[in-house]
Amino acid sequence: MIKAKVKAKESAKPVANSKEEKTKAKKVEAKPAKKETAKNQLDYAEPAKPKAKHKDISPDVTIEERLKALFNLQQIDTAIDKIRIVRGELPLEVQDLEDEIVGLETRVKNYTDEVNVFEDTIVQKKQQMKDSLALIKKYEEQQNKVRNNREFDSLTKEIEFQNLEIQLSEKRIKEAKANIAAKNEFVEKAQTELDDRKADLKHKKAELDDIIKETEKEEKSLVKESVKAEEVMDERLLTAYKRLRSNARNGLAVVNISRDACGGCFNNIPPQRQMDIRMRKKIIVCEYCGRILVDQELAGIEVVEEEA
Ligand SMILES: [Zn+2]
Repeated sequence: MIKAKVKAKESAKPVANSKEEKTKAKKVEAKPAKKETAKNQLDYAEPAKPKAKHKDISPDVTIEERLKALFNLQQIDTAIDKIRIVRGELPLEVQDLEDEIVGLETRVKNYTDEVNVFEDTIVQKKQQMKDSLALIKKYEEQQNKVRNNREFDSLTKEIEFQNLEIQLSEKRIKEAKANIAAKNEFVEKAQTELDDRKADLKHKKAELDDIIKETEKEEKSLVKESVKAEEVMDERLLTAYKRLRSNARNGLAVVNISRDACGGCFNNIPPQRQMDIRMRKKIIVCEYCGRILVDQELAGIEVVEEEA
């Protein structure tokens, strides 16, 4: 890909001690450094140490090469981001489904418990009715053996009371049956929903497993590529890139010009700055969002919609 070709164009600069010297060093790389544009450049000075650390690549790598390396790294990192986003949402969906299933299971259990209570009530009331009928039979037999009206009337009252008890039990049984029917309908509904969710979960889990398996491989190779791409960049530029990336919501630190605007924040870029960007002599950042800007050609985009 991008190799650190040594071009005699830019010679190593002396160590910049004062701020003034640093500014000078920056100006050396490109002549037109107007003060106005200087502030739109990335706060990035060329690695000036004569003895570079192993991570610092030769200062003779051109700005264009650095921009290409940056753009390449951004492409790789964006691909990694996309994988992580896709994978990141699925476990949440699975978790949501699992929670929903637990809720539905609780609901089904509660309904079933209630149905059981009503069924117990029916059994109990049926027994009470039997008892009442037995009592009535007993009282009627006793009425045949009574010696006076008072005893007869007293038994009649008992019989009436038991008949009322039977009616009440019948009413309670009827109510319980209606309740059971209603609850069973709920149970059925919840059960159907539960079965559906369980099928969904099975499906989602399989999908998640597949994606994890699939993307892990892809991610690993991308991360390898990313590390390799980072190797052709010096520490300071890489640090700037990483800081930009972590600050940007979409992880974009390097963007191309798109429809005369910054591809990151969509603010307009004046024609003069667009031209500077196309020159690839300076690392130019968006004055609004601070992202590093590259021209469309460098980004591998065919320049056709340049009419309006
Ligand atoms: Zn911007």
